[in-house]
Amino acid sequence: MPSYFLQTDIKYLKGVGEQKAALLQQELNVATFGDLVAYYPFRYEDRSELHKISALHEDMPFAQLRGKIVHMRHVQSGKERVTALLRDGTGEVSLVFFRGLHWILQKLQVGAVYTVFGRLSTHNHQLNMVHPELEPWTPAQASTHSILPVYATTEKLKRQYLDSKAIAKLQHTLLQQAPECAFPETLPMTLVQHYGLMGRSEALTNIHFPENAATLQQARFRLKFEELFYIQVQLLQLKKVRLDKYPGKVLADTQLLQRFYHTGLPFELTGAQKRVIKEIYRDLKSGHQMNRLVQGDVGSGKTMVAFLSMLLCIGSQGQVAMMAPTELLAEQHYRSIKALAEPLGIDVALLTGTVKRKARNKILGALAEGRLSLIIGTHALLNEAVGFHNLGLVIVDEQHRFGVAQRAKLWTKHADCFPHVLVMTATPIPRTLAMTLYGDLDVSIIDELPAGRKPIKTLHYYDANRLRVFHFLKHQIKLGRQVYIVYPLIEESEKLDYKNLMDGYESICRAFPEVPISIVHGQMYAVDKEYEMERFVKGETKIMVATTVIEVGVNVPNASVMVVENAEKFGLAQLHQLRGRVGRGSEQSYCILMTKDKLNPRSQERIQTMVRTHNGFEIADVDLKLRGPGDLLGVQQSGILDLKIADLSQDSQILQTAREAAQHILRKDPTLEQPCHTCVQQQLALLQPPTVSWSSVS
Ligand code: ADP
Ligand code: MG
Repeated sequence: MPSYFLQTDIKYLKGVGEQKAALLQQELNVATFGDLVAYYPFRYEDRSELHKISALHEDMPFAQLRGKIVHMRHVQSGKERVTALLRDGTGEVSLVFFRGLHWILQKLQVGAVYTVFGRLSTHNHQLNMVHPELEPWTPAQASTHSILPVYATTEKLKRQYLDSKAIAKLQHTLLQQAPECAFPETLPMTLVQHYGLMGRSEALTNIHFPENAATLQQARFRLKFEELFYIQVQLLQLKKVRLDKYPGKVLADTQLLQRFYHTGLPFELTGAQKRVIKEIYRDLKSGHQMNRLVQGDVGSGKTMVAFLSMLLCIGSQGQVAMMAPTELLAEQHYRSIKALAEPLGIDVALLTGTVKRKARNKILGALAEGRLSLIIGTHALLNEAVGFHNLGLVIVDEQHRFGVAQRAKLWTKHADCFPHVLVMTATPIPRTLAMTLYGDLDVSIIDELPAGRKPIKTLHYYDANRLRVFHFLKHQIKLGRQVYIVYPLIEESEKLDYKNLMDGYESICRAFPEVPISIVHGQMYAVDKEYEMERFVKGETKIMVATTVIEVGVNVPNASVMVVENAEKFGLAQLHQLRGRVGRGSEQSYCILMTKDKLNPRSQERIQTMVRTHNGFEIADVDLKLRGPGDLLGVQQSGILDLKIADLSQDSQILQTAREAAQHILRKDPTLEQPCHTCVQQQLALLQPPTVSWSSVS
C-alpha cells in the first residue's frame, strides 16, 4: 500500500521543517503529505488556450470557448428553456439552460463576451452545451500561456514566507517526489470509464499544475465528482441502514381518511397535495420507517397534508405528535386541526411550556395510556415526562428551527419501533442542497398553490418615502384590512433590536393615533403574546407590530399588507416567509419592503429578486448564488457543507450525476463486496461519515 507516502508528516517535505510544519497544521490543517495534496488552489490565473467553435467535435467531453452572445431566446413551448447563441469568429454553438431561467435571462447579456466551459452534447445533429459554466470576459484577462494555481493563505503563514507561491512550490516538490503509485484510484474503473473521468493521479497533478484549461476542467470535474460521489454513497448507505434496521409500523387503514375525504374536506385538494399524500401513504404502509421532508411554499397547504397523514396513522390505531417551533404556531395548528378533527370524534390536546401542571398531568396520562391519539405542541413535547402508548407518526413543522438532537429525542421515545417522521418546511431548499444535506431523506414537493389566490404585489420603498407608505396603510385600514409591520431581529444585539422595535412602535402609534395596534415580540410573556395575537386574529386591532416571531405559520386571512422594516437585513428565505403571511384571503395583498436609502448592489439585487418573483425555489437559488450555501437557514448546522472542491451553488449537474452513479453502484452491489468496488470500501473507511444526517441520529 502506498498510503505511507500520504501519511508522511509534512515536516519531512523538502522546504518545510518543524516550524513551518507546525504552522501549516495550525493554519491550514495540513499535517501530512496527503493533506497538502488535498489542499487545492482556490482559483487560478488563467492564461490558457481556448477551443475554436469550428474545431469542436462530438468526441470532446469538454470544451472551453470564448465568444459573444449574439442571440438569446426564452422558449416556452415544450420543455421551458433559454437558449443562447455563442459566436467566436469561427462558428456558433448553442448554450442551453433549463433551470434558473430568470437568473440566466437577467445575467446573460446579448453582445457581451463570455468564457464558457462545459460538456458538449448533440441535439438534432447540432452540437450544444447544456448548463455550461459562464464567466464574463474582460480584456484584462488577455491570454498568454499557462494556468497558475492560487492558494488561500493567512497572514501568519505569509509572515513565515508561506505565501501562495511558496505553497505552490511545496506542492510541486511533493508531486515530483511522489512515487508512481502514491495516489491510487479511488473510483471504480467502471465509473471512470463510463463518465470519461480523469484518473486520480493525473487529476491531482492537474488540479495544482494544469497542463491547459481542458485538463484543469477535467481534473476539477473528476475531483468534484469524487467528493460528491462519496457523500452520496455515504448518505445512501445510511438510508439503507435505516430502512433495514428500523421497521416502521404498517399504517395502512384508510377508512378514517376516506370518511373525512368524502364528508369533511373543506376544499378540493390541489394536484400536488394529492400526490404528496400518496407518497406519504406509500411510506406508511411500506413497513419501513418513513423519513420524509415535505417542502412547500408558504400557503401551499401543508397543514392539510399533515392532517391527512394524521388520519392514516390514527385510523391505524397509532398516536400522532406534531411539533411546531413556536408557541404561537403550535396554538394555531392546534386550533385549525382541532376544528377538522373533532367532527371525526378525534380528541386533540395542546402541550406547550405554559400548560399548567394539572392539565399537563392529565394530558400525559392520556398519552401514556393511549386514550389520546393526537397531540400538538412545542419542544415541550420532548420533555422526559412525555411518553406514548403507541406513537406512530411524528410531524415536525418548519424543520430548520429545531436542533437535530432535539428531534432525535422525540423519535427515540418509542423504543421497539421508530415512529414515522414527516418534516415540513416552507423554506425551499434548492434541490442541490436538499440532495446533499438530506440525501437519505425522501423529499416531497408541493409545488402548486390552491387555485384562486391573487398574487401578492411586492413593492420596494426607501425610508425617505415612509410617509407615502403610511398613507397607503391608512387607506387599506379604512377599507377594513389589517397590516403587519415587522422589524428585524438580529440575535447578537437583542437590546438594540428591542429598542429598534419600540421606537418603531411609538412612531407608528403617533402616525396612526386612531387605530388600535398590537405588538408582539420575543421578550413578552406568552400569555400577553397570546392575548395580543388573539386581538389581531379577531380583527380588534388593525396593525400588528412584531419581530419575526410571526414569521412562521400565522394565518390571518384579513391581513393584506406586510410591511418589512429594514428589509435589507433579512435573508431572502425569511422575506419570502414573511410575505407568505398575507395573500391568504380574497383581497389583493401587498408586501412592502422598506430599506435604508442607500443600498449596496447585492442588497439591491436581493430586494429586486423579491419584487420580481414569488417562486420560493427560485428565490432560494438566488440566495444560494448570492450568499453561498453557508448562509441558508438551517444549513449551518450541517457539517457536510465543508466541501473541499465541489460548490453546491455551481455543481448541481455534477451532484446529480454523482448521485446517479452512487445509486447505480449500490443497487448492483449493496454491500460493495465485488472486487471492482474494493476501492470504494477502502475510501469509505478513510472518510469521516457525513456529520449531521437524519438517519445517523435516529
Ligand atoms: P402552509 O403550507 O403555508 O402551511 P397552510 O396549510 O396554512 O399553508 O394553508 C394555507 C391556507 O390555504 C389555509 O387557509 C388552508 O385552509 C388553505 N388551503 C390549503 N389547501 C387548500 C386547497 N387545496 N384549496 C383551497 N384552500 C386550501
Ligand atoms: Mg404552515
